[in-house]
Amino acid sequence: MEAVARKYVAKDYKSDLKPVWCPGCGDYAVLNAVTRALAEMSLPPEQVALVSGIGCSSRIPAYTRAYGFHGVHGRALPVATGLKLARPDLTVIVTGGDGDGFSIGGNHFLHACRRNVDLTYIVMDNQVYGMTKGQASPTTAPDWEGSKLTPDGTGINPFQPLVVGLASGANFISRVSSSDPKNMARIIVEAIQHPGFSLVQVLSPCVTFRPEQSEWRDIVRTAAVDFTDDAARAARRLMTDDGFNVGKVLYKGQRPPYRPEFEKTRGSVAELEAGFAL
Ligand code: SF4
Ligand code: MG
Repeated sequence: MEAVARKYVAKDYKSDLKPVWCPGCGDYAVLNAVTRALAEMSLPPEQVALVSGIGCSSRIPAYTRAYGFHGVHGRALPVATGLKLARPDLTVIVTGGDGDGFSIGGNHFLHACRRNVDLTYIVMDNQVYGMTKGQASPTTAPDWEGSKLTPDGTGINPFQPLVVGLASGANFISRVSSSDPKNMARIIVEAIQHPGFSLVQVLSPCVTFRPEQSEWRDIVRTAAVDFTDDAARAARRLMTDDGFNVGKVLYKGQRPPYRPEFEKTRGSVAELEAGFAL
């Protein structure tokens, strides 16, 4: 008799750990959207790995039942790259924040886009370091005066993740809002299904250190245009964008993902370790 594929619901991917995020944090919606997307794709939890660095949003792997790796600051992408190359059968999703991904992990971000390994990178961007109590991050506006460390603002233009991602070779680019988790789940499904490195920026408010971001839900608007596969056209759109066009895929490239063929490892782990002994 033919086996019937199991149907999953979002709850099947959630762990028993209760999130410790502040009430109203945008990251709750991202956890819901990720688990909803996995359910829509009916991916068995043991076929999925979530990898993160450090920060409020990097707690997501602990709140799911898939395989998880909670690494060190800024290093989620190299860990995920190694995992995907060693286990191409797994769906590997990377979750993190703007500080973790674009400052400490900025160099890894560039090269992950360039390598185009088949990963989905979901960045919860709240333009602040939330977990360390509210310092300016790479995406903070230059005139934000909310941190005692930068009382007159940073005076530095913010990092533009989608422009930099596109220029570095990301194969799929989208911006979504945590105020619309249903649409976010749909975009995450598309991001996972598109081959290569997929970048999803989530406008996810930090209600504690950036309370004014609660207004984002009224500011965001659905992007007027559908995706393009023309990088130059996507670049023009992103360069003239105010950062609040959300809810659509902006760019889908055709570059084949990096999938090197490895020789199967022979020997035990102990033998491999012995080979590296000094
Ligand atoms: Fe969310 Fe900010 Fe609280 Fe962190 S500090 S859990 S980002 S609201
Ligand atoms: Mg942040």
